[in-house]
Amino acid sequence: MESECLFCKIAAGQIPTEVVYEDDDVIAFKDIRPQAPVHVLVIPRKHIPAIAELADEDASLVGELVVTARKIAAAKGLTADGYRLVFNNGPGAGQDVYHVHLHLLGGRRFTWPPG
Ligand code: 5GP
Ligand code: ZN
Repeated sequence: MESECLFCKIAAGQIPTEVVYEDDDVIAFKDIRPQAPVHVLVIPRKHIPAIAELADEDASLVGELVVTARKIAAAKGLTADGYRLVFNNGPGAGQDVYHVHLHLLGGRRFTWPPG
């Protein structure tokens, strides 16, 4: 745990958060500023600042993030209409929190290309 990292604090239960799912490796919680009717962040408990800093051995952990998002999307009834999964990496992509997180967005239609 990085003591100054917001998402490490959330994973440690130190900040009030609406947790959607958690296990030994990952935790999922509602985004505080939702951009869609469903907006959940899925994060590893392990502190990894950004996708750019992933190690090869993190591959299965990232797979767990995606599979967890798929399960949450299914539980929320999003499978038929579809949903969007997003990793923002670095300043140009709008990454604000430097602890890897997968955005699960659903419940409305999304445009492409993204903004
Ligand atoms: P990024 O822009 O880094 O990809 O996304 C960071 C996300 O974290 C944003 O969607 C933002 O609303 C969310 N966020 C920032 N601070 C908090 C917080 O304290 N609690 C929760 N639940 N979400 C947060
Ligand atoms: Zn962290």
